[in-house]
Amino acid sequence: MKLDIPNKPKNNKDGSKKPNTPSLMTQLFSALLVFALVSILFDTYFTPHEDNQITLSETATLVAEGQVSNILVKGEKLDITLIPASEGAVPVEKVSKKEAGTALSETLVNYGVTTEALQAINIEIDEPSGFAYWLGQLAPFLLPLIGLIFIIWFFMKQVKGTNMKAMAFGDSKARVILPSNKEKRITFKDVAGNREAKQELEEMVEFLKNPKKFIDMGAKIPKGVLMTGRPGTGKTMLARAVAGEARVPFFYLSGSDFVEMFVGVGASRVRDLFKMAKKMSPAIIFIDEIDAVGRSRGVGIGGGNDEREQTLNQILVEMDGFESNEKLIVMAATNRSDVLDPALLRPGRFDRRVMLELPDRPDRKKILEIHARKKPLDTDVDLQVVAERTAGFSGADLESLMNEGAILAALNKRKKITQQDLLDSLEKVMIGPKRQSHLASEHEKKVTAYHEAGHAIVASVLPNADPVHKVTIIPRGRAGGFTMKLPLDERRLPTRSVYEDDIAMGLGGYVAEEKIFGDITTGPSNDLKVATATARDMVTKFGMSDEIGPIVVDGKAAQTIFGERVDGSHRSEKMLETIDSEISKIIKRGLERARKVIEDYNDAFIEIAETLLQVETLEQSDYNKILEKYGIPIKELPKMKEA
Ligand code: ADP
Ligand code: MG
Ligand code: ZN
Repeated sequence: MKLDIPNKPKNNKDGSKKPNTPSLMTQLFSALLVFALVSILFDTYFTPHEDNQITLSETATLVAEGQVSNILVKGEKLDITLIPASEGAVPVEKVSKKEAGTALSETLVNYGVTTEALQAINIEIDEPSGFAYWLGQLAPFLLPLIGLIFIIWFFMKQVKGTNMKAMAFGDSKARVILPSNKEKRITFKDVAGNREAKQELEEMVEFLKNPKKFIDMGAKIPKGVLMTGRPGTGKTMLARAVAGEARVPFFYLSGSDFVEMFVGVGASRVRDLFKMAKKMSPAIIFIDEIDAVGRSRGVGIGGGNDEREQTLNQILVEMDGFESNEKLIVMAATNRSDVLDPALLRPGRFDRRVMLELPDRPDRKKILEIHARKKPLDTDVDLQVVAERTAGFSGADLESLMNEGAILAALNKRKKITQQDLLDSLEKVMIGPKRQSHLASEHEKKVTAYHEAGHAIVASVLPNADPVHKVTIIPRGRAGGFTMKLPLDERRLPTRSVYEDDIAMGLGGYVAEEKIFGDITTGPSNDLKVATATARDMVTKFGMSDEIGPIVVDGKAAQTIFGERVDGSHRSEKMLETIDSEISKIIKRGLERARKVIEDYNDAFIEIAETLLQVETLEQSDYNKILEKYGIPIKELPKMKEA
C-alpha cells in the first residue's frame, strides 16, 4: 500500500517555498487539452465549409461545358464565377480546391478539358500576401513544434524553478541548494570566528573538491561529521559553507521533519535522499537536529518511537552502505550530543566531531560586522562596545540584535542606525522570545573569571598537574567557563602524585570562589563530582590509599536483592566506612594544596582573573606571559589532542 502524504507547502528558514506541484498526469493532460483545442480552431478557420463547395472534377465539367466565366486562384483555393444563366442575373459563385503544386490549367487538361474551353475562361492568379501565405504554409508544422517547446519549457521550469526545493525525489522533504545558486551560496568568509571548526572542515572541502587525490592514496575519508554546539552558534551555516566552499550540492533535511510522519515514511525518505545525493555526488547530505531521530534507542516509556527508530536505522544502513569513493559526506548537527544513540558515533559513521563555541569578544565583533554589512550605520556606532556588552550571545543572538537595531531606527524614522538603537535592542534580544543563550551578568562573569583563574593557577604551579592550554570564561558545554588541559591518561602512566595534583587542580575553582566571594555557587559542583570520582578510584582501584593498601575493592555500594547480598566483593561495613574516610582525606588534602597555591601566588591569580574579565579568552602564549611575570616555570606542552 502506498500512503499518500499531504504535501502542504512549508516555508523553511531561508524563506524558500516548496511548491505544491501538480501531479505529472494532470500536467500532461492539460497540455494535451490545450493542444487539441488549438488544432480544432486552426482547422475550422482555415478549411472552408461553404455550401457552394464543389469538387475539382465538377469544376472541370463546368469548364468543359463552357459555364465558367472566371476563376480566381488563391493558393490552392479556387473562386469560380459562372456565366449568368440570363442577361442581367447575378453570377453564381462556386469555390473549389486545386491540387497543390500543379498549375490549374494542367489539371483541367488532365480532366479532359479542351484547350478551347480553357481559353474561353479567364484565369486570374491572386498571390496571397507574403505573411498570410507563409503562415498558412508553415502553421501545420510550426504549431505542434511550438506546443512541444512549450511543454518542454514548462517541465524545465518545474524542475529548476526555485532552487531550494524538492527535486525529483517524491515526497522527501529534503531541500537542495545547488552550487549554481549564487544567491544562497555561502562560504567560510561569511562565518566569523570558529577558527578551529573551520580548520577541521577544510579537510572535507578538500576531499569534495579533489576526491581523486585522496582515493588514489587509498585514504579513507570520514563519512560523517557531527557538529555540536549551542543553538545559534552557526552549525547549519557552517555546514552550508562547506558545500559552498567545495561547490557541491547541499542536501538539507531536518530531523524534526521526520517526527510527524507515518510509520515507514521516514525510512523511505532517507533512502530517497541518499539515492539522489549519490547521483549528484560529490555532495553533502546535511541532517539538522539529528537528536530528533538519533536519541538513544529503547529508552523512554514504551520503548520509544517506532518511526524514529526505523528512520535512525535507515540512516545507519545508508551510512554503512556507501564507500568513501562515492564522494558523499554526511554532516549532522545537534545541540544535544549527550542524548545521541552511541551507534551513530561509531567509526564509519559520525566519527568526526566538530564543536562550535559561543563567540568571544573579537569574534562577536566580527559577527556584528558581518550582519552590519547591508545596514546603514551612523558614525557614532562602535561595534567594539556592542561586542563588549554581549558576552554569552550566540551568533544568532547577535544577528537578531543588529536586526532589532534596524527596526528601532526605522520606527523612529531615522536614516541610519545609531549606537543607542543597538544598545536599546540589547535588552530586547535578552528578554525576547527568540533569546537562545544566556547573557552573563557582570557578577557572573566575575565569578567565572576567578573560578577559572583558580583552576589555571593551581594547574600551572603544581608540578604534576597538566599544563594549561587555554583559559576562557565563554560558556562551553554545560560549564560556565573552561580551563583546557591535556587529559591525564593520554599523557603518561599516571602516578599517585599526578592524581593528587589533578584533584587539587579540580578543586582550584571551588577554592577561588570561596576565597574571593566567601560563598560558593553551584558552579563547581561538577568539579567536585569529578574530583570525588578520581579520589574513589585511587582508593578502590589503584591501591593508592595507605589505610586500605594495594587491594582492589569495588567501590560501588553492595546491592541487596531479596534480602541477599548479590555483590561479588564481600565487603564489611567497616571497609565501606574506611573507603569513605580515605576518599574524604584525599579531597581535604587536595583542598589544602589548592588553597596554599592560591595564597602563595595570589598576585598571579588575581591578574589571570582580571585579564580574563577583560579579554574573555587567554590563549596559551598570553597566559604564559603572566606566568613568566610572576616567576612561575612554564611547563612543556605535549602535543595537544583536543577533546
Ligand atoms: P545553529 O544551526 O547552530 O542553531 P545557525 O547556523 O542556524 O545556528 O545560525 C543562525 C544564524 O546566526 C545564522 O543564519 C547566522 O546569520 C548567524 N550566525 C551564527 N553564527 C555565526 C557566525 N559565526 N558568523 C556569522 N553569523 C553567524
Ligand atoms: Mg541549526
Ligand atoms: Zn571548574
